[in-house]
Amino acid sequence: MSILDILLELQSNDLAIDQLQYRRDNLPQRIELHSILEQLNNATEELASLMAKRAALVDKEDELQRRSVSLGDRIKVLETKLYSGEVAAPRELQAMAEEVASLRAHRSELDDETLVLMEEVDPIEAQIDAVRHRIAELSAVVAELEANIASEEKELDAQIAVHQASRNAQAITIPSDLLVRYENLRSRLGGEGVALLVNGSCSGCHLKLPSVELERIRKAPLDALITCEQCGRILIRRSASDL
Ligand SMILES: [Zn+2]
Repeated sequence: MSILDILLELQSNDLAIDQLQYRRDNLPQRIELHSILEQLNNATEELASLMAKRAALVDKEDELQRRSVSLGDRIKVLETKLYSGEVAAPRELQAMAEEVASLRAHRSELDDETLVLMEEVDPIEAQIDAVRHRIAELSAVVAELEANIASEEKELDAQIAVHQASRNAQAITIPSDLLVRYENLRSRLGGEGVALLVNGSCSGCHLKLPSVELERIRKAPLDALITCEQCGRILIRRSASDL
């Protein structure tokens, strides 16, 4: 097998690696994972906002209850005094009775407000449960997709390794200046540095070579290094009929 034939096989390994690498970089599961992670992120933010809302309501509820308890204490003190017989002046007794009534009314208002708040908390609790459930479901999907991606990557990596090993073995047999030239062409020309000469045309750029050039190539030995004038690729002839 000539050096150029080996170079062509090396290129087919390189192209196979490119394709496998492209597949590895563009796994459809990764796009799905990205979308699920976005949903998970939104759900987590939603949960945080619901928890904050609930905490604010519970704080308010606690504050109302504290005020209600403190009013209850004040009422108890006044009532004890009111019925103790210590105060005899009717005007003073009446004032105290009025204060007790007013405090009771205020406490009752606070207790009503507390009930309203408790009713507001209930639907938020239900929303929190629903979001938590959604987060658990999305997390399960994420875990499944990640496992799926990891196994696909492993499979593709194994295939890449096979081509890489074969390519490395081929590279050793190719003169380094030719290999460097091939690499430069390849990086410049979409992965293909070597092309076949088929019926007088370059299989890389698909242009027909000028007849003068073909005549020159025909006279050159089969293993001579020739290049396409248009694209610069290294041309490989399989036989005289390629011309
Ligand atoms: Zn060409």
